[in-house]
Amino acid sequence: MSASLHRRRLLQTSLALGGVAGLQACANIAPTAIGPYRPTIAPIRARTDRIFDITVCLRPFRAQGPRLDTETIGSTLIVHNYGHGGSGWSLSWGSGTIAVKKAMTNSPREIAVIGCGALGLTSAILAQKTGAKVTIYAREQLPQTRSSRATGSFTPDSRIALADKAAPDFPALWEEMARTSFKAFRSYLGLPGNPVQWIDRYSVIDHEPVRDGGDAPASVSSDSLDFASYYARIADLTPRRQLLPGGSTPFGDRTVWRNEDLMFNIADYGHTLMTDFFMAGGKFEYRDFHAPDEIARLKEKVVINCTGYGARQLWKDETVTPVRGQIAWLIPQPEVNYGLYYKHINVLSRTDGICVQSLEGGDMRGYGDTNETPDCAEADHVVTVIAPLFAGFGGAKAST
Ligand SMILES: Cc1cc2nc3c(=O)[nH]c(=O)nc-3n(C[C@H](O)[C@H](O)[C@H](O)COP(=O)(O)OP(=O)(O)OC[C@H]3O[C@@H](n4cnc5c(N)ncnc54)[C@H](O)[C@@H]3O)c2cc1C
Repeated sequence: MSASLHRRRLLQTSLALGGVAGLQACANIAPTAIGPYRPTIAPIRARTDRIFDITVCLRPFRAQGPRLDTETIGSTLIVHNYGHGGSGWSLSWGSGTIAVKKAMTNSPREIAVIGCGALGLTSAILAQKTGAKVTIYAREQLPQTRSSRATGSFTPDSRIALADKAAPDFPALWEEMARTSFKAFRSYLGLPGNPVQWIDRYSVIDHEPVRDGGDAPASVSSDSLDFASYYARIADLTPRRQLLPGGSTPFGDRTVWRNEDLMFNIADYGHTLMTDFFMAGGKFEYRDFHAPDEIARLKEKVVINCTGYGARQLWKDETVTPVRGQIAWLIPQPEVNYGLYYKHINVLSRTDGICVQSLEGGDMRGYGDTNETPDCAEADHVVTVIAPLFAGFGGAKAST
């Protein structure tokens, strides 16, 4: 999740009350007052010696938004589906639906998908649902792809475009993708391993005075590019944040807001997607393509190109800008069933580990940076920043 997303989510309540159409129209929008209440919040053992992995990934950002057009090379139709910035998992089903519709124009019996990340796998599964035989060609399968190094939050407009570079009809297209995806995640809720689940997310603010009307203070972002913000268009999909009564949480006298967010346990979710693909007769072939005409020589004459950041080199598409992101992984704690935002640090407890990452600097953080080498000092820093939150948790010293 980006800092600006966080800022936008904090603003979500007022936007939702502003009359966004959709589910909200039939929802009973009651004030968000909460009575005396103590949520169960287990302490995170935030110690640097418990960091068991540091992962780095490059978001494939395009100022104009993802590439979804088609081109023909020889007799092969190529449908592009790449460049989803920090929103690839979140928009995957919606984006894949658009791509597969274009791919099915002449009802091909066989479809090739290039890439086995979030976009490739979901496109492949959607193509199978049309009755087509699908082969994925890629140089890495999901656990090795950049997609598997994502946080796992529903962040559909995180670094998805620049407001002044996206086409006028892109916001509506984005909304269609976000709504389609959101609905698709419904089928993965409640499955073994919790591939997709709802969790509480606490935004914790040090000694912040609560203002009349319950406005949450926005986090400061140093964005110098005008990253598009579309979340207001789908504000009806997710619950509004709530201000928790002072002293009702173990975070002491800090101000605490609670959101309920959709998240992806990417290890389980990815495994589920791979299994679904193979069980439906999907085939996988290891290939490393160096030029588009190699793809045009595949036996399938309809190809969906889901190469993510790889498209920059393969398709010589310099509109794909890398945006570096790093996650420090703490050993999983099943009793920690929530996400957290504190001092520009984003925390998400997943089944395969507790992900801790810095969002300091906002959407410009990592912009244009191709360095995929882990930064140990940054990993130590993020864990050290959140550690004081858990000292003296519940009145006693945290069992660190
Ligand atoms: C730190 C971080 C956190 C993130 N958190 C979130 C989040 O919480 N929610 C969210 O929605 N998004 C998040 N994202 C963004 C998300 O990870 C990306 O948008 C998404 O992974 C892009 O998926 P993809 O399938 O397009 O690309 P990739 O995962 O990179 O997959 C590309 C595929 O193409 C193949 N390929 C590429 N080039 C070639 C070639 N020449 N020949 C053969 N195969 C090739 C690769 O092997 C791979 O299989 C995050 C990103 C980062 C960096």
